[in-house]
Amino acid sequence: MRLVDSHCHLNAERFAGDEAAVLERGEAAGVERILVPGWNLASSERALALAERFDWLDASVGVHPHDAAKVDDDDWRRIVAHSADRRVVAIGETGLDYDRVFSPIPDQLTNLRRNLELALETGKPAIIHVRSKAGSSDAQDAMVEALRAAGFGGQRSLSAFGPDRPPAVIHSFSGSVDYARLVLDLGLAISISGLAFRAGEESTADVVPLVPADRLLVETDAPFLSPPGAPRGRNEPEWVRVTADWVATNRRGTTAPAGLDLIAAYDRTFRARA
Ligand SMILES: [Zn+2]
Repeated sequence: MRLVDSHCHLNAERFAGDEAAVLERGEAAGVERILVPGWNLASSERALALAERFDWLDASVGVHPHDAAKVDDDDWRRIVAHSADRRVVAIGETGLDYDRVFSPIPDQLTNLRRNLELALETGKPAIIHVRSKAGSSDAQDAMVEALRAAGFGGQRSLSAFGPDRPPAVIHSFSGSVDYARLVLDLGLAISISGLAFRAGEESTADVVPLVPADRLLVETDAPFLSPPGAPRGRNEPEWVRVTADWVATNRRGTTAPAGLDLIAAYDRTFRARA
């Protein structure tokens, strides 16, 4: 299988100085596309520098919910300026984290709105992180509401992205089948990570067959979320094959469009222009 890693924090401290070796192992495992997402100004700038150094990488710039209360207006202005860079293919990662709540929820919502707005203005899809506490769906519910309020799934996202491109990606999917149907109805793409293997995330196996092949992505979220077999301390792009195999297995025997063309889905999402 030809692989992508739609979300890999090669810009994280844990990879410092070791990036070339990590990428070499990824390429040897068949990984042909990697998107390096920022989570604040400094990490967004490191993502850009990596995309400059390794020309097959893509970058995104934006502010994670954990950092929502830490990014000042000057940082945000610089992120907006970087968003026009041709190496930047998406906005984020942004989102809502009601599980750990490292930034107060009102700050997370304000941050989410301006990241979503920037995605619509630039025509670059938003990369969205959504986590609730176990057994709850409050972050997912709030996300669907925020997406609709910003114009996703309506005329605004249609004008910005056209009929065929997802205006946002739910990264490292976590949530119910009903929530997946809601975000798919808004035209979003869904990316599956090693989180799918964890206790409490069993519904992801039922979500995988529902996603149209051209909106289904896989990722590591490296250095986090190691799938079975990967080192716990530092996940790497090469381990995306474990998740991709699991996704392919869960799509067999369904009536949904079969097959898995990760490269085409990645390129349609991140490299096409409306
Ligand atoms: Zn991430």
